Amino acid sequence: MDALELLYNGLIEWLIEPVTRQFLGLFDLNGRMGLVFLFTSYSIAYALFRFREQRGLTDARSFGQFIGGRRVYFHRSALLDYRYYFVRAILKVALVLPVVALVDPLVLRSGDYIAFFSNLWGARTQVEQHLALSLLYGLGVFLVKDFMSYWAHRAFHSRWLWAFHKVHHSAPVLVPATASRVHFVEKIVEKLSAIIGIGAYAGLFWYACGGEISRYSLFGVTYVVFILNALAANLRHSHVWLSFGPVLEHVLNSPAQHQIHHSDAPHHFNRNFAINLSLWDWMFGTLYVTTSTPEVLRFGTGEQDHQRYLTVSSLIITPFIDISRHTTAASRRPLSWMSRFIAPTPPTLTKSPACSTPIEVSTASPLT
Ligand SMILES: [Zn+2]
Ligand SMILES: [Zn+2]
Repeated sequence: MDALELLYNGLIEWLIEPVTRQFLGLFDLNGRMGLVFLFTSYSIAYALFRFREQRGLTDARSFGQFIGGRRVYFHRSALLDYRYYFVRAILKVALVLPVVALVDPLVLRSGDYIAFFSNLWGARTQVEQHLALSLLYGLGVFLVKDFMSYWAHRAFHSRWLWAFHKVHHSAPVLVPATASRVHFVEKIVEKLSAIIGIGAYAGLFWYACGGEISRYSLFGVTYVVFILNALAANLRHSHVWLSFGPVLEHVLNSPAQHQIHHSDAPHHFNRNFAINLSLWDWMFGTLYVTTSTPEVLRFGTGEQDHQRYLTVSSLIITPFIDISRHTTAASRRPLSWMSRFIAPTPPTLTKSPACSTPIEVSTASPLT
């Protein structure tokens, strides 16, 4: 009876509750994947379709075809992304949160910064909290988080971490759920880097104000993120080519820019690491801007990987296999392992005229 009860409680805690929470998350406004945000993103896509259709700028005969149709949204990779979206909730409870909780006490917090600067320069009198201050603080939280995300993302494109981030790039078609195709190791690093960045920023800001200031939020989300999610954030992982134009794209990351980031063409490699603000890409030399003319893109990491990331377990385990294989190879061939981490030479591109961003999803290898 006790064993059964234990099993029941375990099932509730580790499986049913996380998956239910993840499912209910589709109906709230906290995450990018909320149904409201999906609706607003695809409404923008529809407006774009009508605009292009009226000017004869698209071959798509329907809106469904314009956004990619069945061959995108029912592609094996997309179906895997839908499944992984729920598995990720279990991984979060089982692995991400425990590891973060383990490291969390070692991280410097805002209180430590306040105490440090108070010791150095003396305590300050608390300023009165008002809307402008909350807006400013909220804007800072957004900027710090986005800045940390840029560098974390850039780090995951380096040799050792690429094996984990490759999971995200392995998707040969992009659907909004692909945003959730992130390995748990990357998620842990992402969370820790945000904690470190926000802790330091909050400590400095609060010290300057003489006490805690609350960030202005909308429905519990930093207001800038909420506004950006409500716009076209879900189109970043889609085949809808939406460019903001070369000028605005120096500051704001467009869906087209993130699609460039997913391209397997060598001249697109290591471009557009930003999540929301391409300003970081501009500042640190990794910017690639687009125009309203769609580029022919092929997503993924090359044909040779198509069979390697087909299951949920392969998304979780493959990075560890790759790293152990390369580590073993490195002990035998000290320098040759490095080439394995460089993204493979992509196959020839084939233009498909149907959807907004031309895609290639065939399995025949043009390399042979
Ligand atoms: Zn990336
Ligand atoms: Zn992506």
